[in-house]
Amino acid sequence: MNHSILATNFNRDEQKVNWHDKALWFVRHKRDTAVHEVKGWEELRSLASQIKANVLSNLDDYLMQFEARALSNGVQVHWAVDAEEHNKIVLNILKENKAEKVVKSKSMLTEECRLNPYLAAKGIEVVDTDLGERIVQLAKESPSHIVLPAIHKKKEEVDVLFQEHLGTKPCNGDPQYLTEEARKHLRRKFLQADAAITGVNFAVAETGDFVVCTNEGNADMGAHLAPVHIACMGIEKIIPKQEHLGVFLRLLARSATGQPITTYSSHFRKPRKGTKIHLVIVDNERSKQLGRPDFRASLHCIRCGACMNTCPVYRRSGGHSYNATIPGPIGSILSPGIDLKRYSSLPFASTLCGSCSAVCPVKIDIHDQLYKWRQIITKEVPQSFVKNRTMKIMGIIFSKPKKFRLIGKIVRWSLRNLPKALINSKPNIWGRNRDLPKGPLQSFEEWYKKRSENE
Ligand code: SF4
Repeated sequence: MNHSILATNFNRDEQKVNWHDKALWFVRHKRDTAVHEVKGWEELRSLASQIKANVLSNLDDYLMQFEARALSNGVQVHWAVDAEEHNKIVLNILKENKAEKVVKSKSMLTEECRLNPYLAAKGIEVVDTDLGERIVQLAKESPSHIVLPAIHKKKEEVDVLFQEHLGTKPCNGDPQYLTEEARKHLRRKFLQADAAITGVNFAVAETGDFVVCTNEGNADMGAHLAPVHIACMGIEKIIPKQEHLGVFLRLLARSATGQPITTYSSHFRKPRKGTKIHLVIVDNERSKQLGRPDFRASLHCIRCGACMNTCPVYRRSGGHSYNATIPGPIGSILSPGIDLKRYSSLPFASTLCGSCSAVCPVKIDIHDQLYKWRQIITKEVPQSFVKNRTMKIMGIIFSKPKKFRLIGKIVRWSLRNLPKALINSKPNIWGRNRDLPKGPLQSFEEWYKKRSENE
């Protein structure tokens, strides 16, 4: 199903759409306040963008350097070309360690690789420990936002869900009670876990360290209690030096939620005595994106979610309408690179207003890249008959001034004289929720000519 159909479904519940829109705008507003308090924010963004551009131009060297350092730290490093290999590697590590119960903190990469269903099919219990992720896991849904995975759910819905799965009492959506119950439930899972899986926010080439950022401390709790820690990262997560962390950590939390820093920014270097750390480094189409000059900058993304919070289309269509692991503006650039036909509607799910590019902490030219995908999709993916014909007709009208003036006259006359029921009839999708203005007596061109003559 394409984006517009799924967005229409989401829009059936108008109250929920308004609430979703407001909730995300609130986060966007918090981001603005936090950003304005940082002197030199724009310089920081430019610096981050330059560091990432340097990383992408020398990615092979940085990855090899990172691997060498990590190995010398006692971390076991694995390479996966795609999602299938990633999942097999994780499964083998779990089997080797006889691990049957796994706790997992937020990792969009493991979502992308569909790790949870893969492991479940092999008889392994995987419990997502980020509260939002646990909510969507219990609801058998996918995250609708990369930072706020359950933002599409109201607290009353979580109340019902927890009653069903955790045996809680009805509480009218009391967030305090629900969080405390989730904490108790997850605490048991942490204590029983044989292994912990985490994502990676930043991997430092010069030291072999990697950093995991969470607000709930769940990645730390999992990795510190279980004897085996498996960290999964995409190849683009590398940064050259420890000192660069200062740039990215300052940008990430402010852009994501308006916090000065994530509550836990945990650095992992070497396994504790008697424990193991495995690191799985995954390509999964990223090197293909690297080879596309127009889109390679999309690999700068640090997954802050700011482009989603600000996007008027995302806020009013919901993350699930993108039907992709990463929704919103950045997802609409990344997904067509994976499957052009399947995700061909996504680059059109944008007003191209540029708000996403304006807030992006690593200065990705998001709206330009969306526009570029549109050019490619229009050529390579068959469009609907109606869209094709309409665009052809529009092309003829706009390229012939005489025809343009004549059609303008007819449309203005129609808007003044035809009954509203006819103007807003079924084929006029635009008119379903909007009233078109009364047609003016003269065109702008005519008005301008007359005005110039009278001066
Ligand atoms: S594209 Fe930019 S704004 Fe969007 S999630 Fe990535 S870093 Fe954040």
